[in-house]
Amino acid sequence: MGYIIADDIDNADLIIFNTCAVRENAHDRVFGNVGALKHKKAKNKDLKIIISGCLTQQRDVAEKLKKTFPFIDLVIGTNQLNSLSALLEQNSRGVVIGDAGEEIAEDIPTIRDSKYKANISIMYGCDNYCTYCIVPYVRGRERSRPASAIIKELKDFYSDGCREFLLLGQNVNSYGKTNGESFSELLKMIDVIDGEFIVNFMTSHPKDCTKELIDTIANSTKISRHLHLPVQSGSNRILKLMNRGYTREQYIELCEYAKEQISGLSLTTDIIVGFPGEEYDDFKETLALMEQLKFDSAYTFIYSKRPGTKAATFPDYISDEQKGIWFRELLDVQSKIGDAALKKYIGKTVRVFCSENGRSNSNLLSGKSSNNLIVDFARADKACANEEKIGKFANVKVTSALKWALIGEEIL
Ligand code: SAH
Ligand code: SF4
Repeated sequence: MGYIIADDIDNADLIIFNTCAVRENAHDRVFGNVGALKHKKAKNKDLKIIISGCLTQQRDVAEKLKKTFPFIDLVIGTNQLNSLSALLEQNSRGVVIGDAGEEIAEDIPTIRDSKYKANISIMYGCDNYCTYCIVPYVRGRERSRPASAIIKELKDFYSDGCREFLLLGQNVNSYGKTNGESFSELLKMIDVIDGEFIVNFMTSHPKDCTKELIDTIANSTKISRHLHLPVQSGSNRILKLMNRGYTREQYIELCEYAKEQISGLSLTTDIIVGFPGEEYDDFKETLALMEQLKFDSAYTFIYSKRPGTKAATFPDYISDEQKGIWFRELLDVQSKIGDAALKKYIGKTVRVFCSENGRSNSNLLSGKSSNNLIVDFARADKACANEEKIGKFANVKVTSALKWALIGEEIL
């Protein structure tokens, strides 16, 4: 449409907020950030403000946003993205939200941050209805893209120089259930595409993660040796209340199998602390599970009540303060486990896809290992410019470990 990315929000004629609905603090931040735009609108009469994303898929929240901030031009649901240009041309105002389950436009032009990395959505929506989660309500029923479209997209990105891919879906393990394809088959088809590249995927759901999938990863050359497998809780009682569809024992067996089969596996997880009804004994089972499985890292969240979900109606007796204490205990335990896991790489050589300048130090280069760890490294040939290495693979000897990355030196 002739728009370009503004160098600064103050110079923008159009501001679009993309919002998240998963936890309450994201919701609160949107209200704070949008409120702060009022004076910009007063200064620039031509400024248009649009709010989109999952928050706006909740009709009551969308209406509330428009009512609280009348200066917003348009509140537009995630699935209305393909009508954005027409709405802008017509100077439309108001709230335009479709059904959460509507088809998502395939051909929207994209701008990617990196020339070398690309995210590829393989499925949309979720049918799982974990009792705490808003996603099925705002993203609609699970639907998968055809494998042929995904593979074409990946090959096109590869031709453009992309070498690191992230396949995205709320539950990638159930990819293809709606169109007769399967996630393992998709990975196998991708693995035989010519060239050197690396494919990550998220998120896997333990209830649909099969041994066949684990074997596929183990036998592949291009699929990342990383499994992000959110456990949420180590207590069977809480897992049941969460409607997760697996037990602690099944989860442990799956992880042990993956560790045996996939050499160099990096295993990460998500955990929720303070789910309604959780008691300290349940929480201790989560801590014990973490000690047993030694996750390389964990994304940890304090339970956030999402109106409209089943868990929002569950009685919750534990105070926020108490939940905060448990949360810090969990962080301490994971921090020690994560540090020890990264230190194990010191002295080892890892294959890294280099995609950018160093994150810890701009003299270094940065990339991801074949098990999806961040690696910052010094290039071997000091005469060559950093830029010449970006977009290429390198072998790196790990010399030290930070909390979130490995540090090393390239070896030729
Ligand atoms: N589909 C993925 C991820 C969903 S959202 C999965 O099933 O694992 C990412 C993470 O946010 C979840 O794994 C969960 O740990 C967390 N989360 C989701 N809803 C939450 C809530 N109401 N409160 C706190 N954490 C939540
Ligand atoms: Fe939410 Fe993930 Fe459960 Fe789906 S599988 S309901 S996205 S937590």
